[in-house]
Amino acid sequence: MDVPSGVSNQRSEGELALQWGEVRQVISHARLRGACPCSQCRAARLRGGISLVAEGVRIERIELQGYGLQLMFSDGHDRGIYPWAYLRELQ
Ligand SMILES: [Zn+2]
Repeated sequence: MDVPSGVSNQRSEGELALQWGEVRQVISHARLRGACPCSQCRAARLRGGISLVAEGVRIERIELQGYGLQLMFSDGHDRGIYPWAYLRELQ
C-alpha cells in the first residue's frame, strides 16, 4: 500500500501536507472536515445534508492509525479515520 513519506500539519495556514515521493499534496483543513469518512458524516452527506464546514476549522491533533490518519478537529469532531488511498484522492 502507498504510504506517504511525510505528513505535516500546518495549523496557521489551515493545511495538511502529505509527501508522496516527489509529489507534495496540500489539503485544507476545511476540505478534510467536509470529507470526513466516519459513518455519521457519510450518512449526513448521503441524505444531501450539506453540513456547513466553518472555514476556520482546524486539525488539532493527528493520530497515526496504520492504514491512515485519524484527524481531530477544533469543532470537537474526532471520529474520522482517513485511509491513505482516500486522502490521496482528495483535492
Ligand atoms: Zn465524521
